[in-house]
Amino acid sequence: MTIAIHGAGVSDGIAIGRVHLVERSQFEIPEYAIAAAGIEAEIRRFQDALALARLQLRAVRDHIPRAAAPGIAAFIDTHLLMLEDVTLTSEPVRIIRERRCNAEWALKLQRDALVAVFDEMDDAYLRTRKDDVEHVVNRVQRILLNHGPMRHEQPDSRLRGYILLADDLSPADTVLMQHHGIAAFAIQYGGPTSHTAILARSLGIPGIVGLHGGRQLIGEDELIIVDGGAGVVIVDPDERVLAHYRRRQDERSVCLRQLDALRAQPARTIDRCDVTLRANVELPLDFVLARDVGAEGIGLYRTEYLFLNRADRPGEEELFTTYRDLIKDMQGMPVTMRTLDVGGEKALPGQTQQGEANPALGLRAVRLCLREPGLFLPQLRAIIRASAFGNTRLMIPMLSNLDELAQVLALIDDIRDQFRRLGIAFDATMPIGGMVEVPAAALCADAFAAQLDFVSLGTNDLIQYTLAIDRVNEGVSYLYDPLHPAVLRLIAMTLAAGRRAGKPVAMCGEMAGDARYTRLLLALGLREFSVHPRNLLAIKHIINTTELQLIEPLAESFLAAGSQHEQRTLLREINTGLAVAAE
Ligand code: PEP
Ligand code: MG
Repeated sequence: MTIAIHGAGVSDGIAIGRVHLVERSQFEIPEYAIAAAGIEAEIRRFQDALALARLQLRAVRDHIPRAAAPGIAAFIDTHLLMLEDVTLTSEPVRIIRERRCNAEWALKLQRDALVAVFDEMDDAYLRTRKDDVEHVVNRVQRILLNHGPMRHEQPDSRLRGYILLADDLSPADTVLMQHHGIAAFAIQYGGPTSHTAILARSLGIPGIVGLHGGRQLIGEDELIIVDGGAGVVIVDPDERVLAHYRRRQDERSVCLRQLDALRAQPARTIDRCDVTLRANVELPLDFVLARDVGAEGIGLYRTEYLFLNRADRPGEEELFTTYRDLIKDMQGMPVTMRTLDVGGEKALPGQTQQGEANPALGLRAVRLCLREPGLFLPQLRAIIRASAFGNTRLMIPMLSNLDELAQVLALIDDIRDQFRRLGIAFDATMPIGGMVEVPAAALCADAFAAQLDFVSLGTNDLIQYTLAIDRVNEGVSYLYDPLHPAVLRLIAMTLAAGRRAGKPVAMCGEMAGDARYTRLLLALGLREFSVHPRNLLAIKHIINTTELQLIEPLAESFLAAGSQHEQRTLLREINTGLAVAAE
């Protein structure tokens, strides 16, 4: 019988294939005493297992495609670093000595202690880092227990085209999946911010997380469909369902091929209005994707990712060389460096805001940076130095008042004065922009636009703060509505303020990359979109088949729409009725 199981889709795409069950957490950890004379040998056994785990991870790193290497390797390196960390190298040794127990048991006790610390953290992002501990410890335990590598970890051409179903998969598994031709994966645990999810998106492997109950309902070799966009697994599909998904697969590949032809074309409406289409990036790999799809530069570089996946903090030199190289690689196209946006759902280990009752309303982004110059100044200095090497723009997240802006501008001025004195090169004309993602900033957009070189609408947060819904709380996700009149009015207000001040207003929130809203946003006057590279060509296709003069008159009616029904009718008109002549 055909059944559908729902989870959270974390990586788009449709796969149809047979299941390979990954039996991960099946092993039991034995506990036994070690005689005093055998302690040193037991410690050596543990250390040999650590060394082999390192070797295995280095081998995985060698499988990473060259173009994808820098970003992906960082995830594997995080695990390699953990295998060097005293919490996993020295503590179990101490436990073996003190308790005179076997290595597996000592490692289990240390794992339990670490996991308990993570469990106490309120922060969703940090809680997912618990997965890293589990993945690394599991690898060492398997070696200690002589379990050998699992089938999907070895080159096995019979698994090509299979779909992995597991309790959990590690970033290393994700790299191997791509290398071994696995078609898709679905896991019981993990969230959209897990490293496995981030990697799957970047590597283009369809994937679903949070598929609770899936393991009980699906057997080895069973035929299933994974719809990574919708977050659905269809078990035992009948012929009708299979035909439907095969058609969707075909349509998707035709569509991807057609979109391919758009790479080199400009984003321009039928009535010849030019639109700027840039990319949102997080990992260095995304820069490669952005260039591949012909983005006109980077509209949002979420710089926090260099800070989040590690125990220490990157220093000014490391930041500078990374930024410089990325900026040089973009060959004159603008790179919009958003200064650190941590806090909220993206807390740094050891950060002061931990334990805040409402982290999204607390010390986040520019607030945290201004509070902690030790965190902020090295990054500002690195960005300003990197500006000498290409077309750099600096963007400040989450501004809520002009005072914050004045403080950041003063810090930038100080750094520039210092660099002048020291003869350090920088681009004195580097544009400085700010994000409008707090309703207060949208309402005061005139004042912000007057002092900034450009503005970018961060709709993910703008919607969160306007509608008072925590963007990481599934319980209120049904209220997350980009078309809410309050949100649209704030967007329209910001666009109008930009026009009055003669300053460009872009949009870099997810709304900009959602094809359903492209024409509405064009009608409202948006002319700069920054979207995930994987969405860019689809958005360009819509722009290039839009006749602006036909839809512009509908913008006012849309803003004034009295009901969701009226909105839906107007959106249909904007999307399909009026502007499809050239499609
Ligand atoms: C936004 O809020 O829309 C945005 C682009 O920033 P982030 O999603 O990184 O908070
Ligand atoms: Mg934001």
